[in-house]
Amino acid sequence: MKDILDFTRQDLGEWFENKGIRRFRADQVFKWLHLKLADSFEEMTDLGKALRGELAEHFFLGTLELENMETSVDATKKFLHRLADGEYVESVLIPEKEHYTLCVSTQAGCAMNCKFCLTAKTGFKRNLTMGEIVGQVRDARRFVAQQGIEPLSLSNIVFMGMGEPLANYDNLLRSLGVIFDTDFGMKFSRRKVTVSTSGIAPKIIQLGLDTEVNLAVSLNATDNELRSSLMPVNRTWPIEALLAACKEFEMKPRNKITFEYILMSGVNDSDAHAHDLVRLLSPIRAKVNLIPFNEHPQAPFKRPSRDRINAFLTILLNRNMTAIVRKSKGDDISAACGQLKAARIE
Ligand code: SAH
Repeated sequence: MKDILDFTRQDLGEWFENKGIRRFRADQVFKWLHLKLADSFEEMTDLGKALRGELAEHFFLGTLELENMETSVDATKKFLHRLADGEYVESVLIPEKEHYTLCVSTQAGCAMNCKFCLTAKTGFKRNLTMGEIVGQVRDARRFVAQQGIEPLSLSNIVFMGMGEPLANYDNLLRSLGVIFDTDFGMKFSRRKVTVSTSGIAPKIIQLGLDTEVNLAVSLNATDNELRSSLMPVNRTWPIEALLAACKEFEMKPRNKITFEYILMSGVNDSDAHAHDLVRLLSPIRAKVNLIPFNEHPQAPFKRPSRDRINAFLTILLNRNMTAIVRKSKGDDISAACGQLKAARIE
């Protein structure tokens, strides 16, 4: 038995054709799964009974068991999902003014070993399947619908949960296919989905060639010595290689790459660092998201004072850099950037 959520529309169409069933039936099934959020084959009432029976014989409809859900004072919700093999991942549902954003995981654990990130402490377990990636979106939309809210109001996705999306490239790409499918899939707008990477340079270029999606890059430092000490990935693709890949990244003329920059007190938050950041990014169509460090017991770093954060931001703005301070939501339930762990480490 296979998880039907692990099948692209193309895969499913071929499976149907091999069975002598016309392809449009596969499109119907796909729509039930990814748009109408069905949770059984019986629900798919525009298919004949025989076909529904056949589907149930060959496939199961993968579910992510909801092990726990926490709600923040700011209404952000964190879901802890238990996967079929007992691994855990988290996703975070963030209410905005007029829509919801879902922060999605692509791996159980993470292998990148960034020194400031709690997910790193769990180590790497495994890549998520496409079914497990799109399953997080399906489940969150089902949750929204259960609250009596239009499920498509979950309109934005950030691949900023656990794991390195570009290290699970094939499943990421297949998932994006379902997410962007406006005919039979999840109908997300390309402008509303962002993939964030710690900086796997060759995969950045590849992503721009293979699909159209917003790119975010976790930069976090302006010189190689510091960046390598914080993010081991920098030893393989140092800042020059990373930024060269960003320049090559194909995007619409008006789009910009988001550079995430965690502000850590006394580490990377001086005026000189801000000037360096402007210098590095000025040749690139870039905007900067400053993320005040979310403190946790597993890392020694501290969040800078509000004055320091504002001074840093002001330098960027005065140099005509597009920049904002990103408010991490869900801090009180460990749902903020860098706080996902999905396992008990104390
Ligand atoms: N692996 C991808 C996706 C994870 S995104 C990536 O690195 O981009 C998670 C974001 O949170 C990254 O920008 C990371 O730099 C940031 N982050 C990690 N730990 C953090 C912390 N403790 N406080 C604030 N931001 C953090």
